[in-house]
Amino acid sequence: MIFRMSKLSVVRFFLSRTFPKKLILSLFLTAFAVQLGLISCSKSQDRIHADVSSYKKAVDAVISPDIIDDTLKYLTSIPHVAASARNNELAEFVRNEWQKFGVEDVHLVPYDVLLSFPENIHVELLSPKKHKLNLREKSYEKDPHTKRTDVGIPYNAYSRSGDVTAPLVYANSGNPQDYDYLENHGIDIRGKIALVRYSAPYSYRGFKAYTAEKRGLAALLIFSDPKDDGYARGPVFPEGPWGPLSHIQRGGIPYDFIYPGDPLTPEWASTPGCRRIPIEESPIIPKIISVPISAEDALPLLESLDGEEAPESWRGALSVKYRLQGTKNKVHMAVNMRDPIERIYNVLGSIKGSENPDEVILVGNHRDAWVFGGHDPSSGTACLLELARAFAEAKKAGWKPRRTVMFANWDAEEFTLTGSTEWGEDNRDWLERNLVAYINVDSSACGKNFSVQSVPCLSPLIIQTMKEVNDPTTNQTVFDCWLKGPSERGTIGISSGSGKIDPIGSGTDHAVFLNHIGAPSMNMTFSGDYGVYHSMYDNYYWMSHFGDPRMLYTATLAKMWAHMIIELACNPLIPLDYEIYAQELKRYLKEWEEIHDPTKVKSEKLNALLSDMEKAASFLTPYVSGQKELAGHISAENLRKANRLLIGIERDFTDPEGIPKRKWYKHLVFGARFTYDDLLYPSLTESAEEGNSEGIQRALLLLESSVKKATSKLEQIVEALDVR
Ligand SMILES: [Zn+2]
Repeated sequence: MIFRMSKLSVVRFFLSRTFPKKLILSLFLTAFAVQLGLISCSKSQDRIHADVSSYKKAVDAVISPDIIDDTLKYLTSIPHVAASARNNELAEFVRNEWQKFGVEDVHLVPYDVLLSFPENIHVELLSPKKHKLNLREKSYEKDPHTKRTDVGIPYNAYSRSGDVTAPLVYANSGNPQDYDYLENHGIDIRGKIALVRYSAPYSYRGFKAYTAEKRGLAALLIFSDPKDDGYARGPVFPEGPWGPLSHIQRGGIPYDFIYPGDPLTPEWASTPGCRRIPIEESPIIPKIISVPISAEDALPLLESLDGEEAPESWRGALSVKYRLQGTKNKVHMAVNMRDPIERIYNVLGSIKGSENPDEVILVGNHRDAWVFGGHDPSSGTACLLELARAFAEAKKAGWKPRRTVMFANWDAEEFTLTGSTEWGEDNRDWLERNLVAYINVDSSACGKNFSVQSVPCLSPLIIQTMKEVNDPTTNQTVFDCWLKGPSERGTIGISSGSGKIDPIGSGTDHAVFLNHIGAPSMNMTFSGDYGVYHSMYDNYYWMSHFGDPRMLYTATLAKMWAHMIIELACNPLIPLDYEIYAQELKRYLKEWEEIHDPTKVKSEKLNALLSDMEKAASFLTPYVSGQKELAGHISAENLRKANRLLIGIERDFTDPEGIPKRKWYKHLVFGARFTYDDLLYPSLTESAEEGNSEGIQRALLLLESSVKKATSKLEQIVEALDVR
């Protein structure tokens, strides 16, 4: 069924409170721009000059928090898991909106992929006393959405079906060291059901399933302890942002740290009718059964344990003694799943570049949600729609990017980053040649703390953008607020001070573009107190009361997104900074040396090569940073050559063979652990951790060759642009 908006909602949608004002401002700016002849950032006479600041103003003037709010309300009104009728209607909605805005080449891209849904799930404590688990979330008068009957059974996607009756062990976070602890205390874990917490220390739920399977457990129950995301943190829904006792974190448990995307089509696209491996042969499908439960349901299970008390760090905030095992307890789990091949839909659209349409800035967000998707991902989808509207409005006013800006709304991210991965695999050759950068926004805002993970060549652009855009509640720049915010892990060396940007790992839709294809990628959001992740309480009520009331931070993120795109799409020379990249690679290597090579003998050559790369890149820094303009005599041909070389540099850091044990992951610098923790120099680090000196040697040789290739490209660019 194709979605049609009611007349009333159409009127509300387009005549929301500030729209006329914004329209007038936008028309004014257009007239202003026309008068000044600033219409294009890429007119041929402006070969070495782009008027990016006027373009940014034109786009900023369009972005409206009220329109974003209306869009979010609509997107979150009905649950929309991938392949549901509603999620497919929303694909048509996104397509229709983009067409209406004036985005070019808007189309749906279908893939037929393996998904996973529950038929029925039953968990019961049989002894010492009988108690059937509720496995449902409570509804509240204050929020009618929580009363909807189409919310669906909370489940772990790709859990196997099965029927198990076994004693229970409590295994903290379900990481290998937790099972070691149990075994060291004489507890036989084989054939038991493990009850584990989601967090503390955090690990991806698929890693918990993988670990339980490898250690011989019969089944897994994963619960949300109030210590981690409930009442111990602060007021709970519907009075506050933290999770109430009955909230359940749904989520996939595929082993996508081996490869993401359709489990049956590793490295190739799931186009209709394509070849598939049998499901039993897929290395990323768990062989264990797993069910997510609430703290409320975990309590009677914990009460049924009577063994040794768990160590201090394993204890959560429920009023029960956390114990390691039960001597008399027995739990029955019956899980009945189906794994259909279903059609999913990505939505793609572009604003074509006027000078270099084959060079592409790709931006994306996913559409599918576990339930209503208030923060994850519909806040991001509403942000993406407003971004596309702003670029389309600017285009109507005559603004055209030099390069193509492509918008992507991915499907089935929640299953195994499926929509983006299949599209990336489908278009691999084209993307390898033409993708300038990928910017992901999974969810836009659930607080005020700007949070970003990125490859280093984009970090100066990120810092610049943070300085250009104001925080909506303090009137300071996002940069100033960010410096005062919670400290991040990275230490990107920004000349102006202590800016810190996290290195990027995996875990959302940028994975195929960064880890598989090797394109400069980043992911950003405004983060905050968020205790309802993947529960039905992550909805419009939660967003409008706690996450981002009035959508001010989502609108701010839309502006930041737009500014970054304009810089990447309009500057004659693409603003990718490989001097900082080389500096960061040296810093990551220093961290590696401190642990694995204190004498620095092994890494000496790589360090020297990185210094060469840094030197070559330093000639370009004033130009990619916009401090200096290129000389007027540089030919269009040489400029184009320089940009094509720049696009290729991040690709030099991939190995077509992939990293050991994970062939799909090809980036030699940015990877992720099975837990989803980011992992720098994945081959080098894992080889060192395993004491595999051959592996270390191979990884170093590959890195050395990557750096040499990058340096050679940088030298060719310096020559083409005559900037030595
Ligand atoms: Zn998401």
